[in-house]
Amino acid sequence: VSCAVCGGGAVRPRTRVGAVEILACSDCGLAWWTPPAGFRAEAVYDASYFEDAATSRGYDDYAELERSLRTTFARRVARLPRPGRDARLLDVGAAFGFAVEEAGRAGWRAFGLELSAAAAARAGRRAAGRIAVGSALHIPFPEAAFAAVTLWDVLEHLADPHAAAAELARVLAPGGVLALTTGDVESLAARLSGRRWHLFSLPEHLFFYSRRSLVRLLAAHGLRVERVAAEASWHTLGYVVERLRKTLLGRGARAAARWPGAGVALPLNLFDILTVHAVREA
Ligand SMILES: [Zn+2]
Repeated sequence: VSCAVCGGGAVRPRTRVGAVEILACSDCGLAWWTPPAGFRAEAVYDASYFEDAATSRGYDDYAELERSLRTTFARRVARLPRPGRDARLLDVGAAFGFAVEEAGRAGWRAFGLELSAAAAARAGRRAAGRIAVGSALHIPFPEAAFAAVTLWDVLEHLADPHAAAAELARVLAPGGVLALTTGDVESLAARLSGRRWHLFSLPEHLFFYSRRSLVRLLAAHGLRVERVAAEASWHTLGYVVERLRKTLLGRGARAAARWPGAGVALPLNLFDILTVHAVREA
């Protein structure tokens, strides 16, 4: 077994989540698990991924999180370089299109790419003609088409890190920026929580990145990391309880989702989610 980012062979067991063993690379810090033969990532993201409280997978009700997601996305978009005239942005893993809309409000000509046809159809109702259905491993846009590409909490879902990074670099114009967020498996919160870390969500998360593995992966594709920060995201109290239920208790048995206060949104920061900005070298 060798590391999917650095190719190193110094691989050790990191922890066990249920019956699944999570491995980690001693050289770059990447962690991962190996899905069973025949596992298809596409099958994870049917309509129920976004609105099913009966399983520990995905979201109880993604639409209900719209306000807090938009706040988070608007803040992340605001940290991008100012868009030039007609500058195009692609949001990969666009889900219901909230980040595409927020980028549009910030002055970008914003497009989305979404693997789930059900989610893309929903996004397309508001952003007609600007949401493509497809995989980040085969982005249906030409080379150098975008001045910015964003992946908000998406990279960890992608099955082949190098194939994904190559595709992201391909569609970025030289000097363009790749902005992404992903969990930091080497953060204090991840280390202290062990197997109960809130981002060990299986089967949707396949890889768990460290700062070192991210820098290494992106550099291999001409993407120079310029900024790494652990920033707060906005979450409703209802969502926090949902995540705790799914990762601590490992189940989706529905707690009352609409208790008083469930919709209150707060900025949370466990310093275990990294924001990375990388520039596509000429
Ligand atoms: Zn490695």
